[in-house]
Amino acid sequence: MARYQLKEAFYTLQGEGARSGRAAVFCRFAGCNLWSGRERDRASAVCTFCDTDFRGTDGVGGGRFLSAETLADHLEELWEAGADSGSASGSSSDSASGSGVVVGSGLDSDSVPGFDSRSGAGSRSSTGYRYLVCTGGEPLLQLDSAAIEALHRRGFEIAVETNGTRPAPPGIDWVCVSPKGRAPLVLTSGDELKLVFPQPEAPPERYSGLAFDQFFLQPMDGPELAANTEQALAYCRAYPQWRLSLQLHKLLGIP
Ligand code: SF4
Repeated sequence: MARYQLKEAFYTLQGEGARSGRAAVFCRFAGCNLWSGRERDRASAVCTFCDTDFRGTDGVGGGRFLSAETLADHLEELWEAGADSGSASGSSSDSASGSGVVVGSGLDSDSVPGFDSRSGAGSRSSTGYRYLVCTGGEPLLQLDSAAIEALHRRGFEIAVETNGTRPAPPGIDWVCVSPKGRAPLVLTSGDELKLVFPQPEAPPERYSGLAFDQFFLQPMDGPELAANTEQALAYCRAYPQWRLSLQLHKLLGIP
C-alpha cells in the first residue's frame, strides 16, 4: 500500500497568508478528517465550506508514493522544473511525461525585458529558496518525520496548512493553522493562524489569545464573498491584531 497519496502537486506562488506571493511547490495530500470530500456528505460534515477537491490521486502531479524518498524526489523534480522554466502558473500539465510537471501557460521568463533565463542570475533553482507548501485535505494525516527528513535533505523549507486537529511532527519550518469552528483544536501555537471568516462557531476572539505570531482573516469564498470581504475588512480595522488575507491565486487566475 502506498505510504503517501497526493491529489496534486505543482509549482506556483503561495496565494494566501503571510507568505503570499512566494514561489513554492504546492503539495496537496489526499483526504481529510473533517469531510469525506463527497457532496452528499457535506451537510453532515464537521467542515462544510470546503472549496477543494482532495479526493483521489488523479490531479496534476498527483500520485501514490511508496516511500519518503520517492515522494521527496518527485517534489524536488517539480521544483527544479518549475524554477528552471520560470512558470509560476499553469493550466496545462505534461502528465504524459510521467513527471506530472506543470508546464505553465502563464509567465514566460524569456519574454521579461532585461531577464536572461540562461544566465542563472538570481539562482532561481538555488536550494536556498526551495519552498514546499503541504496542504490538503489535511496534510498531517500523512506528513511524517521520514518525509520531513527526506525533504530537508533536498533543501526544502517546509510549510504546512492544517486544520489544527492533529499534532504536528517535529521539524516543520512554518505552521499555518486554519481552525474550523466545530472541530477541536489541538495545535494551539505556530507561525500563522488563518481563519476563514465568518464562521458562526469560530469567532476570531476565540483564537486571538493563542500563541501564533501572525493572525489573518480570510473572507469565505462563495456567493457571499463580497459581503464576507467587507465584514473581514471591518473586523481588521477594528482589531489590528488581525490582517486581511486575500486569495491571490484566485485573483490572478493561477492554480
Ligand atoms: S478541513 Fe480543510 S480540507 Fe478539510 S474539509 Fe475543511 S476546508 Fe476542506
